[in-house]
Amino acid sequence: MSSETAYRKVDRSGRANQEPVPYLKRDIAERICDFEEVILGYDGELAEDEASRCMQCPDPQPCTLSCPAGNDIPEALWLTSQGKYVEAALVFAATSPLPEVCGRVCPNLCQQGCVLGKRYGAVSIGKLEAFVSDVAREAGALTIKVPEQKTGKHVAVVGSGPAGITVAEDMIKLGHEVTVYESWPEAGGVLVYGIPAFKLDKRVVGYKIQDLRDAGVTFITNTRVGQDIMVEDLQHEYDAVFLGTGAGIEATMSIPGEDLDGVWKSTDYLVRANVKEAYRPEDKKVVPDVGKRVAIIGGGDTAVDCARSSIRLGAEEVTIVYRRTEAEMPGNKSERYICVEEGTQINYLQAPVEYIGDENGRVKAMKVIKMELGEPDASGRRRPITIEGSEFIQEVDTVVLAVGYWPDPLLGDKTENLATHNWGLILADEAVGATTREGVFAAGDNVHGPDLVITAVASAHKAASSMAAYLEGKSIALPTPKPRRKK
Ligand code: SF4
Repeated sequence: MSSETAYRKVDRSGRANQEPVPYLKRDIAERICDFEEVILGYDGELAEDEASRCMQCPDPQPCTLSCPAGNDIPEALWLTSQGKYVEAALVFAATSPLPEVCGRVCPNLCQQGCVLGKRYGAVSIGKLEAFVSDVAREAGALTIKVPEQKTGKHVAVVGSGPAGITVAEDMIKLGHEVTVYESWPEAGGVLVYGIPAFKLDKRVVGYKIQDLRDAGVTFITNTRVGQDIMVEDLQHEYDAVFLGTGAGIEATMSIPGEDLDGVWKSTDYLVRANVKEAYRPEDKKVVPDVGKRVAIIGGGDTAVDCARSSIRLGAEEVTIVYRRTEAEMPGNKSERYICVEEGTQINYLQAPVEYIGDENGRVKAMKVIKMELGEPDASGRRRPITIEGSEFIQEVDTVVLAVGYWPDPLLGDKTENLATHNWGLILADEAVGATTREGVFAAGDNVHGPDLVITAVASAHKAASSMAAYLEGKSIALPTPKPRRKK
């Protein structure tokens, strides 16, 4: 954070009493008919009014402390309030390579830290970040500057989601050559194939990938490391390897009927529904025919994304079935609110125990059991307990499983000395990103499990810093393998 921010004097009580400025959203009736972005955000006038609510808290500012990437938020908001949008965007971009993305999809940990939150309503930092970043993008101010002098070192980055993008940018800025491997047909990883377009316009991701290409980064798509090429092969070709493969393997509940037609896993469903046909692999060209009644199983952001996609695919009744209560529900509350606003019903304290098919092998109903909450489990949330004899039948035409994600186990299984633990998470020192295999670094969801874009960015910055030190010949301590837990 800047030293100027720490001493900036403003009328704090006057600012605290300013009403929050609502951002613009598309009408419900219009937006549920397409997959375009729902949040329109702020224009310049509204942005300046909202940014001027920031009280410029003295150092250390709670918003900055709450941001995993440590964005200098008061500085960015001050510049925004002065109409200096590009300068504000560059403050966000100084700590995050994805300000346009985070402004749209981050659940705003910074806002949760804002001192105005409880009493007056937190400053809408995310929407302001998206606004100023879009302005800076239009102005051509977000290009990546690279040194003329190259180091002669080459790094391979596996995965082109938030962690991979962060490491690619950090490395290319240091003068290293960077090649990114992506298993999907298009670069962007989860930003293209996981987050629906109604939350994140794919053009925003495309701009970032183009920035990296313009800076000299090479992308090799349709290539799954661990299957099409091995980590060992990459280490022969490159001076260091970064694994930013995320957590894209869906968990299932292993209950009868999961293999029926019309029962989908969330990624498959979201890709077919949201990603434009040219970006989809051959085996995902068909868009789900959802029928009238769709049930989404799960309670996190992915469940919400699947529910909102179902409405846009033409479903008339969309239900999220969640085994705990709203108090234990993970994910972004405001997204959940939008989901309900668009017509989704959430059934709490219920879980399916069986999917029932028709004579053609297509799901037609599910047997659901009611739950009650018991003592807290290892996650700290109260454990759901089934209520004997409470089963009932719910008719459905489509079911989508959104019950959790794990990393691809292939990398750990196929790479010697690359230790994994807890259902395939790569064992890496989270402070430095070193794995148990020398010269191989990892960060993001494949290390800590599914989390936020900004969390992956923050941990990938640390791994990039360690990779840079490694490329300079410094020794990096490797973590000690732990016993692996079974799924
Ligand atoms: Fe501004 Fe809120 Fe941060 Fe204080 S905590 S500096 S009011 S955004």
